[in-house]
Formats: sequence, structure tokens, C-alpha cells
Amino acid sequence: MNSETGPTTLDLWNLRAARARLLAERYGASREILLFYAGLAEWQGQMAGRVKTLAGLVEFFPSLLDLVRRTGPAALGQAARDLDVSRRRVLLEEYWEGRARNSPADFFARVLLQPYAATLTPGQECPWCQEPPQVGRLRPQGEGLALDLVCALCLRCRPFPRARCPGCNESVEANLSNLSAPDFPQLRLQACETCRGYLPLVDLSRDPEAIPEVDELAGLPLDLWAHDQGYHKLHPNLAGI
Ligand SMILES: [Zn+2]
Ligand SMILES: [Zn+2]
Repeated sequence: MNSETGPTTLDLWNLRAARARLLAERYGASREILLFYAGLAEWQGQMAGRVKTLAGLVEFFPSLLDLVRRTGPAALGQAARDLDVSRRRVLLEEYWEGRARNSPADFFARVLLQPYAATLTPGQECPWCQEPPQVGRLRPQGEGLALDLVCALCLRCRPFPRARCPGCNESVEANLSNLSAPDFPQLRLQACETCRGYLPLVDLSRDPEAIPEVDELAGLPLDLWAHDQGYHKLHPNLAGI
């Protein structure tokens, strides 16, 4: 995004929060997750302007833990209480380097590192950009739609061929299917029979106001359906789904 004409960093977090609150009105099944996320995005927006270095993120832990204890789901609230405060710095570094996975504490590192990663300039590498993405966005291009993948950490977009699985690179059409539901016109899942992974896709031609990383959270019922069918999401969202 062009920083001269596009929204500022704070605006982006506030836009995400506002979108989450709007979708919470529309989708009852995802309401709780969306409202929790809206509070997180607002908090991230407030800290974003003050983030200078990775080491400096440690000072924001207490405020985040307090927010999650007050507004988060029970399991995350417990994780906030259980967090070993002496490991805060290590936790951030391990997550940044991709060495910490599948621990309840990962959530806190990810929330803290997202605004930091968002400050990277276009030439600077985010270690998670090469990992499977959280979500894809389809945007109108010519007569059709182009695909961008959204990084789970820095939330920056990068172009990717359509009709290819970002999990395993499968491109045989018969092995890729699109799953959708009438209640979610802007959302579909691209499922891969080869690795059994799926990627949520947010279609901006259906809703230009959609924000991929937020609209994807609203699709909880689609996620549950896909999990029932034996698929796994390529990269879980902040709600752990
Ligand atoms: Zn990234
Ligand atoms: Zn695949």
C-alpha cells in the first residue's frame, strides 16, 4: 500500500476493528470471535505507533495479558494466567524465527509481533511470508480475478497463481475444489485433495469493503464444516481455527 495515499497504520487497525464489529452484527455464530478480535485490533492499533524494536515489544505484554483475561475466551484467559513471564522475550524471538509452534503462548507472541511485522518496509523480509498464508484475497483484474496471499504475521499481500494450493503446490484442477455457502457470498474455501489443506478466499468482487484477515474470521461455520470433512486449515487464524 502506498503510504502517501493509503490509510495510516493506525487507520488500518481501526478499519479491521470496525469491519469485525460490522460482521459481528451479521454473523451470529462468529459474533464472539469477531468482537474479541475487534478489541485486539484496536489494542494493536494503539501499540503500533510505539513499536520500534522486537525487544521493545516485551513491555506491552502486561497490557495484552490484561486485555485477554478480561475479554478473551476462557482457554486464552487461562493461557494468559499461566504464561511464564520470565520467558516473554524468548517467546517473541522463537515465534519470530518460526521455532515456536502449537503452544497456547504462541497467540500472545503473534498478536504482539503483527504490528511490528507490519512496520517492515517492502524490501524487508518477514520470516513468515514463506509459510502457508492465513487467507487469500481475490481481486478483480481484467475480465477475471487475481489471487493474493495474505501473510499470517505481517498481513502483507503477495501475488500467487490461482488454482494452485499454497500448501503443497498442487495445480491439477481435479484435485482442487471450491466450497462456498449462500450465507457467505464474499467467502469461499479452496480445498486441496492432495494435502487435505484448505485456504479461505475472500472475494473483493463480491464485497469491495471486505478485509481478508477479518472476513475470514466470520467464516467459522465454513471452517467447522471443512474440519468435519477431514480438511485442515493451512494456517489457523488468531482464534486458533
Ligand atoms: Zn509476512
Ligand atoms: Zn495442497
